[in-house]
Amino acid sequence: MNSDLSNSPPLRGGLGEAFLDKLSESKKIVFFTGAGISAESGIPTFRGKDGIWNKLRPEELANFNAFMRNPQMVWEWYNHRKKIIHESKPNTGHLAISEMQDLFDEVTVVTQNIDNLHRRAGSKNIFELHGNIERNFCINCRTFYNEELDFANGVPKCKCGGLIRPDVVWFGEYLPEDQFEGSEKAAVLSDMFFVVGTSAVVYPAAGLVHAAKRAGSFIVEVNIEPTEISSICHESFWGEAGKILPEIVKAVKSNNR
Ligand code: NAD
Ligand code: ZN
Repeated sequence: MNSDLSNSPPLRGGLGEAFLDKLSESKKIVFFTGAGISAESGIPTFRGKDGIWNKLRPEELANFNAFMRNPQMVWEWYNHRKKIIHESKPNTGHLAISEMQDLFDEVTVVTQNIDNLHRRAGSKNIFELHGNIERNFCINCRTFYNEELDFANGVPKCKCGGLIRPDVVWFGEYLPEDQFEGSEKAAVLSDMFFVVGTSAVVYPAAGLVHAAKRAGSFIVEVNIEPTEISSICHESFWGEAGKILPEIVKAVKSNNR
């Protein structure tokens, strides 16, 4: 155990020797993140304790048919989420990941989040598997509208007349191919693969954990509770990402000294 950590709150499972050894040898690391990393920024997760989907049925809103049936309602939901996201800031977990860029040869963020907080925290190499709420596009001609949309006359429309929708991946839709391929490549080439704040039940995204493991990467989970993929991880840290990730940065720094 690193002496620098002696005054820190104990992590269940500790920052074990095997983990620290592997980390000190690692050159390429990947952070695969989900809604849990943004929970401490005040953005509700979907599942798990306090998840919004305990109250709302996701399939009713986050799919293309729902949008065609009632674009107004779907947009109200996204505008509500947008407001929460705009009022939030990256937390110590996002910032720790960004700081890792100075400590390893290659740091890749693969996120399922649409909140843009990794970018705002300073991470550079980011794959967004489920889109980004800051972007919108026309369902007819795919023209992008990334500026503030005007809802004064109802759901905004493209100059071609098509409805404008948020650039997020809905249930039943394919993931953006370039983002998924880039993520897969980073996963299989990684020395260490962190799974942070994701329930790991949404596929194909969650399949990246298995791909990384098969390719020989060391899999580390950071979550407040066990998940579907806990049993395949080499190391698990149970606690808030905003506390554990800065501890890991601290451990790497004191190791490099
Ligand atoms: P999820 O809601 O299914 O699971 C969240 C996970 O985070 C749970 O396992 C929970 O135990 C864990 N968690 C909660 N607080 C945590 C904390 N402080 N530290 C560490 N872990 C914590 O999230 P998911 O797996 O990302 O679900 C997939 C879908 O949810 C994605 O499609 C994503 O687009 C969407 N989503 C995104 C946002 C966002 O952009 N911030 C918010 C909600 C949902
Ligand atoms: Zn159009």
